[in-house]
Amino acid sequence: MHYFSFKKNNLYCENLKIKDLLDKFGTPLYVYSGRTILEHFFKLRDAFAKLEPLICYSVKANSNLSILKLLTSSGAGLDIVSGGELYRAKKLKCSPKKIVYASVGKTDKEIKDAINYGILMFNVESIPELGRIAKIARKLKKRVSVALRLNPDVESGTHAYITTGKGETKFGMDTKTVKGIFLRRASLPYLKIEGLHMHIGSQITKLDPFKKALKKAKKLISELKSKGVKLKYLNIGGGLGIIYEKEKPQTAKEFASGILPLLCDLGLKIILEPGRFIVGNAGILAAKVIYIKETPKKKFVIVDAAMNDLARPSLYEAYHKIVSIEKPRGKKSKKLADVVGPICESGDFLGKERRLDIKEGQAIAVLGAGAYGFSMSSNYNSRPRVAEVLVKNNKAYLIRKREDYNDLIKKEIII
Ligand code: PLP
Repeated sequence: MHYFSFKKNNLYCENLKIKDLLDKFGTPLYVYSGRTILEHFFKLRDAFAKLEPLICYSVKANSNLSILKLLTSSGAGLDIVSGGELYRAKKLKCSPKKIVYASVGKTDKEIKDAINYGILMFNVESIPELGRIAKIARKLKKRVSVALRLNPDVESGTHAYITTGKGETKFGMDTKTVKGIFLRRASLPYLKIEGLHMHIGSQITKLDPFKKALKKAKKLISELKSKGVKLKYLNIGGGLGIIYEKEKPQTAKEFASGILPLLCDLGLKIILEPGRFIVGNAGILAAKVIYIKETPKKKFVIVDAAMNDLARPSLYEAYHKIVSIEKPRGKKSKKLADVVGPICESGDFLGKERRLDIKEGQAIAVLGAGAYGFSMSSNYNSRPRVAEVLVKNNKAYLIRKREDYNDLIKKEIII
């Protein structure tokens, strides 16, 4: 579901013509639909209404302040993974009691800042990290709430780079370790070890991996209960998949009806950390065709956006639909083309073997670019980062200015 659609041969975001936005803001340009973002959030919230969970939007998916504001002002909390993401949350005055903090490598400064802000809890990923948080909490004389991240060692059926719930990945701790910590939690008086956290991967389209992981968590929770350890929170992470090509992911309702039966009898406060599900289909990356190049072997549509702007295709060979923002009239070309950027790498592509009827100077839209798009972008090849626009209540707002050449060098020092 999203609000990008063709009306009379032109691509629109909600009621605004993409062509008009490109004329006004230039290319390449990320365009987000506020309505799509909120509706996804509400769908998940409503599907889980029975449990009144805390839904912490995963900032890494798209960390633009205006998007975070849109969600937090509608009731979302935030799932953060760095001091930088905490800084964003603070800028927005996000309620600290709605912030959870994961990451395998939290530094002392990051831990201290998060404790001082009073976040709801850390999702702890190792014994050394637990010790470090305990030490800093003691120094600050504050009792800090933590959840232990369980690595349930389940297959999630997604790309290896975004699988996080297998035993050989760097995330979380195995069942035995987690159990051991809970059983000796009294030895860490500055910590309230009261939650269990899991996040098994991203772009998971099937229900089964979530169920398998939850069953393992439930078994652990009941074993702990039998030993007198009562928990307060269960964080089931994010990971819900979306449609990029032909995937058939679960809807929020299907997901909830599949796992609610496993959660309802626990009597725990449930936390969710969705990212992609909320913003993935709520954004496009629009780009202009610079050249059409034909070699004896291939046709290339060379556009002004590249792998530095949207890394997913080159990083994971991820598929994104690519459309011309104005539907072509007349005969359709039969030749397939690779849509590529100007970067000096053969891995710099946005799409391969696509049927696109387009000419130089016209624009394309890479769909489903709202999650892990801008937030993973870089300045590689000294390319200024692109602008971002949010459509909200029938108006387009510039929510990040296009970088200029000065932005590229302003932190550099010539010696
Ligand atoms: N929670 C944690 C701990 C994560 O690492 C991630 C993504 O990597 C998410 C939530 C969000 O995942 P998704 O965008 O697939 O919902």
